[in-house]
Amino acid sequence: MEAKWSLKELYASFEEERFKEDVKKLDQLIAKVKNWANDHTVSQGNELEKLEQYITLEKEINSLYEKLAAFAGLTLSVDSQNESATKYDAILEQKMSALAGTGAKISSWISSIEKLDEVIEQSELLKEHSFYLQEIVREQKHMLSEKEEDIIARMQNTGSSAWVNYKNLLIATHKIEIELDGQSKSLPLTEVLNLAYSPNKDIRKKAYEAEIASYKKIEEGVAAALNAIKGEVVAVCEMKGYASPLEMTLGSSRMDKETLEAMLSAIKESLPMFRKYLRKKAEKLGYKNGLPFYELYAPVVQKEMPFPYDIGKAFIEKNFRAFSSDLADFAKKAMDKEWIDVFPREGKGGGAFCYGLHSLGECRIMLNYGDNLSDVITMAHELGHGFHDQCLNGESVLNIDSPMPLAETASTFCETIVKKAALGEADAEETLAILEAEISDYTQLVVDIYSRFLFESELFKQREDGPLSPKELNNMMLKAQQEAYGDGLDPEYFHPYMWTWKPHYYYAASNFYNFPYTFGLLFAKGLYAKYEQDKENFPKKYEKLLAVTGKKFIADAAKEMDIDVRNIEFWRSSLKIIEQDIEKFMQI
Ligand SMILES: [Zn+2]
Repeated sequence: MEAKWSLKELYASFEEERFKEDVKKLDQLIAKVKNWANDHTVSQGNELEKLEQYITLEKEINSLYEKLAAFAGLTLSVDSQNESATKYDAILEQKMSALAGTGAKISSWISSIEKLDEVIEQSELLKEHSFYLQEIVREQKHMLSEKEEDIIARMQNTGSSAWVNYKNLLIATHKIEIELDGQSKSLPLTEVLNLAYSPNKDIRKKAYEAEIASYKKIEEGVAAALNAIKGEVVAVCEMKGYASPLEMTLGSSRMDKETLEAMLSAIKESLPMFRKYLRKKAEKLGYKNGLPFYELYAPVVQKEMPFPYDIGKAFIEKNFRAFSSDLADFAKKAMDKEWIDVFPREGKGGGAFCYGLHSLGECRIMLNYGDNLSDVITMAHELGHGFHDQCLNGESVLNIDSPMPLAETASTFCETIVKKAALGEADAEETLAILEAEISDYTQLVVDIYSRFLFESELFKQREDGPLSPKELNNMMLKAQQEAYGDGLDPEYFHPYMWTWKPHYYYAASNFYNFPYTFGLLFAKGLYAKYEQDKENFPKKYEKLLAVTGKKFIADAAKEMDIDVRNIEFWRSSLKIIEQDIEKFMQI
């Protein structure tokens, strides 16, 4: 079996008549939306009818675009040299970007409608899209005039966008002098970072020391980029009327401050338990003073459970079935109907992803399967996304975009199912390997991200008063790591330069990029705790939750499961599950 995915359900080829017709149709729809906006957003009256027309048009254009863009994007992801796919990938994006101004016009019109609530109440179609419409109004509150928005966007081209390119250039061309196997070498940063996973302790240490020493060469330039980007964010937030960059991120995450604070408080309480794990790992590797930063990813045991694809498939189906037949049937369908592109091959991109095809009620999953347990876990993760998509099939295409914190719920949940099952079948050494890999991941997602949150909060605060020197940034990072890792890490070996290469600090459009991941992990863990309490009734409710993630605030979506995310107890129950794993690890 070739185990490639089938895309013919979308189109047979880029030359096919149907594809060409659809591209033409997209042009017509774009023109139609533009004309419609010109004709209907200037005057008052007939709001109900106009809103219905707008929603209908928007649904149509979104569905069509999804199909076309998916065909180009999916083709490209397994055949990076495909010329037609490259061409259409760019063309389609460009076509849609031509609608930006029109979108702004429509948003401003919708926001100006008096008593929008009452208008929505009069129509089933509008009621179905109430959240979508209200979100437009919420976002519009932070929009400036068309001219001001245009000026900001243009200045950002030569501001944050230019600075991030400069910083990327510095990092990409940065060479690190290191002596390996008695030879002096000059290696790129990515290669040196990879040495943190080396089974050889001396190499891990050498790599870290060489990395830290190397930053002197580029620290001024990278700090200039960071200062410029964060300075711009502070200014833009202020102009747009946000209380802080954090408020902006919470808004786009559909999350409230209370929820964030409850989660952070529970995390703070849980830090000693992670530190216990870190000290244990340190002890295992022969350190007395806590774990040096460069040993965070060090393998404790080198053993992977072998899982050829056929066995991996069967393993997933079996364990998904123990959860629910809906989940297992979905996985089987995806496997049988050629929705998965399984193995690495020339021209195919790296990594793994799931792409929802709402207009077909299907999805496609790309893997680079390599016959180990970690590959089975990745497959379960992506099938989790696919199952989430399936739960959204009955929803309008305008109601399927989940905010970042909820986007990883189903995937993390499916990972948990498979990891638990694997632990049940593993021998002692494999158990240790699985647990260690898992806890090490959680330490990143909880402890390290907490340190990044502290760092970024402080950075924004101090940046308001002016730019910071590399030394000040280093000290800020050390303080954040001290607060998060505490005595889990060896005080001699922190990592003051983590601000240089972590890309997230440099995304002007998404600040505090990391805590949504922590939310995703802990939310999924908390759901699993709920599942264990009531295996019978949980799966159906869970499907209902997944069906509403695109049209509710996070706190309201969680209510579907009787979860109160503003209550610290929920987060404690999530962390408790991680604690059980840590306890198990401590015992072995
Ligand atoms: Zn994912």
